[in-house]
Amino acid sequence: MNPPERHDPAAPGQSIERPCPGFLSIVIPCYNEEAVIEETHARISRIAPRLGMELEVLYVDDGSQDSTLKKLKQLAVEDSRIVVIEFSRNFGQQAAMSAGLEMAQGDAVVLIDADLQDPPEVIIEMIAKWRAGVDVAYGRRKSRDGESTFKLVTASLFYRFFAMLMPYPVPVDTGDFKLCDRVVVDTVCALPEKRRYLRSLVPWAGFHHAPVDYDRDARTAGETKYSAFRLLSLAADAVLLSSDKPVRIIWFLAALFAFVGASGILAGLVSPPKETVSLPTILALLGFISAAQTAAIAIVGEYVVRSYREAQARPSFIMRGRTASNDQAPATPVDEACNTD
Ligand code: UDP
Ligand code: MG
Repeated sequence: MNPPERHDPAAPGQSIERPCPGFLSIVIPCYNEEAVIEETHARISRIAPRLGMELEVLYVDDGSQDSTLKKLKQLAVEDSRIVVIEFSRNFGQQAAMSAGLEMAQGDAVVLIDADLQDPPEVIIEMIAKWRAGVDVAYGRRKSRDGESTFKLVTASLFYRFFAMLMPYPVPVDTGDFKLCDRVVVDTVCALPEKRRYLRSLVPWAGFHHAPVDYDRDARTAGETKYSAFRLLSLAADAVLLSSDKPVRIIWFLAALFAFVGASGILAGLVSPPKETVSLPTILALLGFISAAQTAAIAIVGEYVVRSYREAQARPSFIMRGRTASNDQAPATPVDEACNTD
């Protein structure tokens, strides 16, 4: 189910001012992307003159163990548009994107993966939508190259299931690849919650959204960072951080079991059964009911864990450093700063 398109950029009489040429930030989370990162930057550099905006590219190194960070720092020496943010360890893609959003200075901010699955050329179309008045121009996947049938089917089902469970419209077949206006970025960054799932937070913020359809490519190099277990945990975050419908489903199950139980008692009173129920049947019924009850408790537990994490209020990432070739040199020379006498 696609959400209703609540806007159209060129609504008559609507006046939208976008800064000209304006400043664009591209935020790229990177985790062990040594095989592709230089190619990614080369592709972005090639389209930069066609963007019609000043540009900064924020690479967030999410605790890579390979040479990604080294390569990024080298790129930053050669290209003054680059900012490299270094995490103290791997905090996850959502944290890396959040950090990039917080540090981006642009009038508009693009989120894009490092592996070139989302073609950077699509950003040009996103900017055109933004200039026309759209606040969030999100990439919508027409096709997905290089994915197994299993992944295509499960992802497609999940997008639809997820959209059904959300209390507000969330676009389907859409990942993190999107352009957000400054006002949307500020709104999302001002939220106090630490654990973020941006695919649902950005739609939650509202504003005017419009899709940009594109064909998703296969990874240029390297491999996916998401195991099946990691994908499941991300899916749980996707639903449980924004929706209380799973609790409603538990209520529905409870009502269903109560109805089945009451019907059984009534049926027994009206015409007492002559034959006895076999032990395997009783065991099967008991197994099914206790599995449903355990799952219900686990779902509540998942909410409790997320509440506990929020109550702890630990930051969602720790920065180890920041590199940008156009950063000002420190005002105090290092040896003086270290002198404690
Ligand atoms: N990523 C990250 N931290 C992680 C996992 C992934 O920053 O812990 C980055 C990764 O480098 C890539 C993006 O998130 O830029 C998407 O990851 P990936 O391509 O592995 O996901 P997939 O496209 O397979 O869903
Ligand atoms: Mg990918």
